[in-house]
This record gives sequence, C-alpha cells and structure tokens, in this order.
Amino acid sequence: MALVKEANAHGKRLKVVGGGDSYNDIFCPEEGGILLSLKVMDRVLEVDKRLNRVTVEAGIMMPDLIRCLKKAGLSLSNLGTNIFDNLAGACSTGYHGSGINYAIFSSFVTAFEIITPTGEKKHIEKSDDAFAIYAVGLGVLGIITRITLQCEPYFRLEVVEKKMPFEQIEAEFDQLLAENDHFKFIWVPHTKDFMVWLGNRTDKPRSSAYKKFMTYFTTGLLINNLFHEFLLFFASFRRSLVPRINRLMSRILLPEYSESVYDAHWAFFLPHLLKQDVVEYAFDIKDTFKVFKEVIAMIEEKGIYVDTPVEVRFVKGDNYWMSPSYGMDSCWIGTKIHFPYYRHPEYQRYFTEIDTILLRYRGRPHWGKQFRITTGDFKRTYPKWDAFWRYADQEDPNRILQNGFIRRLRDLEE
Ligand SMILES: Cc1cc2nc3c(=O)[nH]c(=O)nc-3n(C[C@H](O)[C@H](O)[C@H](O)COP(=O)(O)OP(=O)(O)OC[C@H]3O[C@@H](n4cnc5c(N)ncnc54)[C@H](O)[C@@H]3O)c2cc1C
Repeated sequence: MALVKEANAHGKRLKVVGGGDSYNDIFCPEEGGILLSLKVMDRVLEVDKRLNRVTVEAGIMMPDLIRCLKKAGLSLSNLGTNIFDNLAGACSTGYHGSGINYAIFSSFVTAFEIITPTGEKKHIEKSDDAFAIYAVGLGVLGIITRITLQCEPYFRLEVVEKKMPFEQIEAEFDQLLAENDHFKFIWVPHTKDFMVWLGNRTDKPRSSAYKKFMTYFTTGLLINNLFHEFLLFFASFRRSLVPRINRLMSRILLPEYSESVYDAHWAFFLPHLLKQDVVEYAFDIKDTFKVFKEVIAMIEEKGIYVDTPVEVRFVKGDNYWMSPSYGMDSCWIGTKIHFPYYRHPEYQRYFTEIDTILLRYRGRPHWGKQFRITTGDFKRTYPKWDAFWRYADQEDPNRILQNGFIRRLRDLEE
C-alpha cells in the first residue's frame, strides 16, 4: 500500500509482473517507472476441503499451486497448455484452456484481494457486481494480492488423441463438444492432417511412468522441440522447406489413435521450449468452421509458409467486461510461428492476414498474445469497452498502472 501511495505522490508509474509469459508488452514497466514482482508472496493461506477452495497469495506460480493442491487432494478444473505462469497474471489476461463447459480461468476465482491504484485494500467476491470488471483486469485495476479459487477433488484425465478428417470433425462437432469434458483440435498447415484431442475425467489407473516419460520427454521435448527447432533452422533460410518439415513432423507426432491417463495438470500441459510468436482470437463459436476454412484458404492462396499447427479451442461464455469470451460461447483459434535459435523468418504478413479475417468475425484477441488491431476495433467488439476504461480511470486517476501497452490500446498520447 505504501509503495502505491508513494508512486502516486511522486508521479511514478508502477507495473506488476507475473510470470512475464505474455507475448506482448502488457507486463512491461515504463522508463523510470517501478517494476514490482510478488514472487515472494507465494504462500498457500487456506485450504477449505469442505468447499474444495484454496486461498493463496497472488504471487504464487502455477506449478507451486498445482503441487500444493495435489497434496490437499484437489485439482484445478481446467488449464491451458502453459502451466508455468503466475496465477494473478493468468487471471489478468483471460488465460483459458478448452472445454465448452468451462469458462476462462478467472471463472474459478471466488474472491480477489486487491490493493487499489490509490493504495486502499479492496475485497471482491464473485457474487459482487464488480467481479465482472475485476475478473480480467489487464493489470490496471490494482495489485492483486490474494486469490481464492474454486477447485475440484483431485482427478485424472483420460486423453484420446486421434487423427480425424476435417469433414468428420465438422460433421461430428456438436457431439465432440457435448460428449467430452475437454475437446480441441489442431491442423498441420500444408497437409490434410487434423488431430482431435479429447480429455475426460476417469477413474482408470494412470498410464505407466515409461509412457509418461516417452510422451513428455522423448516425443514432447526431444522431438517436438529440439529436433523440430533444428529442422526449422534450415527452413528459416528457405521457407519452401516448411511443408516437407510439417509432413515429417506430422507423421512422427500425430498418432492415428492414442489413449493415455494422466493427472489432470499433466494432461493439459504441452512442453514448449521453442521460441515463438502467437496470435490467438476468440470469436462466436457458431462461426468456427467459417473462420477455420478462411484461415486454410488464406494460407494456401497467399502462399504463406506456416511452420506450426493451428490450434482450435472452445470456451464457455461469461459476463466479464474485458474477457474475449464476453457474452458468447467462443472458439479460440491460435496461430503461431516459430523462431528457431532466435532467427525470425518473415511472419508479420501471416499474422496481419489472421487479424483481418478475425476482425470480420468480430474476433477479440488474447490479451497476452500478439495483435495489430486498433482502438476502434476493440470498441466495436467489446460492449463494455468505454465503461471499463471510465472505471479504470476513476480508480486510478494518475494512471500509475497504465503502461505503453495500455496507452496504445486506448489510443492515448504517450
Ligand atoms: C508456451 C506458452 C503457452 C501458453 N499457453 C497458453 C494457453 O494455453 N492459454 C492461454 O490462455 N494462454 C497461454 N499462454 C499465455 C500466457 O500463459 C498468458 O498470457 C499468461 O496467463 C500470462 O501470465 P503471466 O503470469 O506470465 O503474466 P504477465 O505476462 O507477467 O502479466 C500479464 C498481466 O497481468 C498483470 N499482473 C500480473 N500480476 C499481477 C498482480 N499481482 N496484480 C495485478 N496485475 C497483475 C501484469 O501487470 C500484466 O498486465 C501461453 C504462453 C506461453 C509462453
């Protein structure tokens, strides 16, 4: 509280960083400003076994939280593929996994404790009207210091991965969504290879330690990361190699059919070391296949080489003002380009084309990923855009928590 008051008194900007895992500068401080990390505020304060709830200090990193929950016999209901970020950072950016009965990660929060931008302590319960504003706060509504999370009893997921033709995914889409706790699919560009990923809670025993080792170390780390990076290094000089590399990786990595059972967090996790840039948009789920077909056609027609699968996930709608899933069950389409050994092949054209397609479908970008769209676009797609920023300015009259990223977002003078 003292730090915030001092920042106000001396006209200093202040930025809290979580895991620093966002692909843009949402967490970056201003020149001459203060960068605050809550890394040492990582204690588990209370575990309520009766309600399956846990209260933690907001600096806790996801792996530490998962470890503590496991000891307490609890699991997080849904996770993205990154399980190394920070809890408050995840809430502030609309972090999400996949599964149409699960909204973004903030929906599991039952209470936030916050130091407001003027240095007061505030407690927000899920039942408060204001929760809809604070659920995805973009780091501008205060410093989150404590979070209470609704968890569920510890569970394992049975994961089925299988190749499926695109036409079949489209024909069976409603069933795939309804009949699985978690469903997503990927497409390997420049091939006809699609794979569905289905995750369901199960009492079956865990797959063997050997299988887990092969999945995460041999296939996940050595092949999907190290070997892939090595190949993509050559493709960074000659992009026309990309389709051949994609075909090879698809043959090695995409199973015709595979079944495994892991503790839930392992099942959600995807090991990722390769440097990459990512654009991900949420849009109305009813447009899933229209958008997806446009993306496929664009890659083919524009002759753009895409070295990474396109990932398609599904998230339940919510009423959180700045959530990309606000007001609609949504499809999230994730597009990536890899940077092998820090080499940057041309990739802006791909992402600009993605922005263009998604804007036609009133898409909303992930707050922690890349986008090149304007304030006008945000205003058109977020019904509560103006109301959110009015509220943020009222809470933070000196805008001490608003950095360059936010000023660009709002089209404010530097
Ligand atoms: C390999 C990889 C895979 C990924 N997979 C997914 C995925 O599957 N799904 C998904 O949704 N995202 C994914 N992401 C994106 C990333 O996980 C999210 O953007 C992430 O949630 C950001 O969390 P962070 O802790 O890194 O926050 P940061 O990037 O550090 O910060 C993000 C925002 O949170 C604010 N903030 C942080 N702490 C606080 C606090 N205590 N109080 C107030 N504001 C705070 C910061 O100021 C900033 O505005 C992935 C990223 C990587 C690198």
